[in-house]
Amino acid sequence: MLNREKLSNYIKISIIVAGSFCFGVSALRIFGQSFHLGFIVLLGLTIFVAPRMTLQMPRSRYILTFSDALIFLTILMYGGEAAVLLAGVEMLVNCLYMRWRDKIKFGKLMIPTNTAAAALCVYLTVLVWEFFPSISDRVSVARDTKILMSSLGVLAFTNFLIVSLYAAIFQTIKDGTTFWQTWKKDCFTSSLAQIVGAGLAGIIFKLLNFGDVVAAAIASVAIGIAYYSYRQSISEINEAIAHAENAEREKSETERKRRKEAEKHASQLIESLKKEEKANDALRKSEKAFQYAALHDSLTNLANRQKFNDELKKLIDEYKEDPTTAFQVLFLDISRFKNINDSLGHTIGDKVLIIVAKRFLRMLRPSDVVARIGGDEFAIILRDLSTVGKAQKIARKIYQNLAQPFSLSGNRIFIGVNIGIAPCDVEYDNAEEILRDADIAMHFAKEKGIGVAVFTKELRSRFLERVRLESDLRYAIERSELSMHYQPLVSLQTGEIIGFEALLRWQHSQLGMIPPVKFIPLAEDSGLIVPITIWILQETCNQLARWQKISPSYENLIMSVNISGKHLTNDELIDDVEQALESSGLSADSLKLEITESVAMENAENTIEVLTRLKQLGVQLSIDDFGTGYSSLNYLHRLPFDTLKIDRSFVYSVGEKGENSEILQTIISLAKNLKMKVIAEGIETESQLNLLQNLGCDYGQGYLMSKPKPRDEAEKMLYEHQPLISFQHLQHFDSERPQNQRENLPIF
Ligand code: C2E
Ligand code: MG
Ligand code: MG
Repeated sequence: MLNREKLSNYIKISIIVAGSFCFGVSALRIFGQSFHLGFIVLLGLTIFVAPRMTLQMPRSRYILTFSDALIFLTILMYGGEAAVLLAGVEMLVNCLYMRWRDKIKFGKLMIPTNTAAAALCVYLTVLVWEFFPSISDRVSVARDTKILMSSLGVLAFTNFLIVSLYAAIFQTIKDGTTFWQTWKKDCFTSSLAQIVGAGLAGIIFKLLNFGDVVAAAIASVAIGIAYYSYRQSISEINEAIAHAENAEREKSETERKRRKEAEKHASQLIESLKKEEKANDALRKSEKAFQYAALHDSLTNLANRQKFNDELKKLIDEYKEDPTTAFQVLFLDISRFKNINDSLGHTIGDKVLIIVAKRFLRMLRPSDVVARIGGDEFAIILRDLSTVGKAQKIARKIYQNLAQPFSLSGNRIFIGVNIGIAPCDVEYDNAEEILRDADIAMHFAKEKGIGVAVFTKELRSRFLERVRLESDLRYAIERSELSMHYQPLVSLQTGEIIGFEALLRWQHSQLGMIPPVKFIPLAEDSGLIVPITIWILQETCNQLARWQKISPSYENLIMSVNISGKHLTNDELIDDVEQALESSGLSADSLKLEITESVAMENAENTIEVLTRLKQLGVQLSIDDFGTGYSSLNYLHRLPFDTLKIDRSFVYSVGEKGENSEILQTIISLAKNLKMKVIAEGIETESQLNLLQNLGCDYGQGYLMSKPKPRDEAEKMLYEHQPLISFQHLQHFDSERPQNQRENLPIF
């Protein structure tokens, strides 16, 4: 397929060839004829004046020139050949002039093409015109105006058709627009050129033929003036149109820019609105999350103390308004949770708390409020519950449920719970008060080992007393209210004092003597037991070091000091013991540490580790209150105890005639098998003493021999150097006890 440019070039060349041919033929025909002066004038006008006398028709691409008029005039006056030459020359000059004046750039071959086309079009027009001899006879034309008009009409119409068809065809081939559109839009308006040209030619022709020179000159001046004023107004119109178009263009450009700007702003606005919406959304979400986090426990997702208190406060206020809206508050403390955390790690500890929370929720109604208010502390509001009895039932159910062991990551978990219940009361003004009372009840349940307790006013006074005692205890050492009593430990074979158990006493300035069972748990709960024990270790080691010096026979006296379970888990115990030994100068094997069986077994692995390190110091170790703590035989075997102290409840239960002695017998045999010395506490009667002697128990302590004594009295005993078991008893022991039983102890 030929491309458009090539085709257009072919056409141009064809036109150049055809046009040159026409031009050549016309030139040949004219050649030799004498040139009329008028033709020379017309040629001059065409070359020098016509190009300057152009009119740009408003809103058209076509320029109205006077060349048409001159060409038509030449046809009428000097024949077609002269007109062909004139047309060619006019076009050539016009193009060159436009290139020079308007700096119009003509494409390749364009000037020759235009020149040839002009010649060709006039040649063809003349051919058609000559086809009608009646109107193309120049003599008739000059004579008859009608023939002149017909002649000019044919010339104008033919020229218009040829020129416009040529232009439309050429344009269509050049830029691919449809022929009809091009013709209609651009070429049709050019018909004006021919009509005006024909009209002008007619007038000039008439003037030249019939008027005199003066009339022609006047007419020419008039035409000139008319032309110039017309040209003026046309150019004004053109300018106005150009202005209007420019203004229109500028306006639409500004409009376009403004629209673009507006669109840009609109899209920016939409974008920023979207962003803002997103940010608001995120803010709303994070606000919600923040609110949730502020009111919930992150581990269990239960309500936290803040939310619990808010709910409780609402219910308290409601209850004051309407006493039928009764409710009950439960305070729950998970027992043995610390052990789980210490021995199995915090991850398991966390899982246990999650399981516990789920169990609570399962057992309660959706309307009840469950909250985690501390590490292992929970609180529950039982809504619309009129009687405390119903609350107790629910609490018992929870208590029993949590007592069930469960498996977690291969571990068997044993936990428990202590629950305090506080029923609603008009006395309460805020949430903290009711929660505090439920807490008091929980502590009571824990202390008594009953699991569930309901708050009463007596419990509160007990609690307040406890709080007071606790604060007094803090200053008891400073005020020298604490002192040690010493209870002799006696050899059941010789009746000799082999040492003392140091027992703490608190002589309160206002309340008098407070027994250890009352204040030791308090000291343990508050953590005061650690500094108190440090003081005890110093005091008793110093004391024993002095007593050992009373007589050479006392060099081996020992001092038994009770160590609390709370201190056992404290890493500094070993340092504290070492420090006491060092500062007193007491040899390590003179110090015996007593650890209650239940405490030793509670976290046996940890106990083994601590005791082993203590043993490395050289101190002796005794398991206290044996028989009350459900010892695991496996652990008992691994724990490095030297002595086993039988709990006094077993000694106490022995009857006058030695009844219920089986357990004692068993414990003693067990101790012997474990290569431990046995000591029995709480010996109050001679029959108990006899039995223990007969069973081969090594040592004993009890009111029968001596009550715990203040320092001076104990010291007096040492100076008196009296055996604490009377001679008869020793006799009795020796005579009544079968020989085999003394040497060969029962083995289990
Ligand atoms: P424990 O270590 O088992 O001490 C023996 C308790 O039995 C002492 O009670 C003692 O007075 C008492 N006792 C001794 N012989 C008899 C007797 O024949 N009959 C009766 N009914 N009781 C007898 P105490 O001094 O009241 O101490 C009670 C508990 O308080 C001790 O039991 C011990 O667990 C604790 N405790 C006492 N002093 C200390 C101490 O300094 N530190 C620690 N951590 N606990 C101590
Ligand atoms: Mg003891
Ligand atoms: Mg004991």
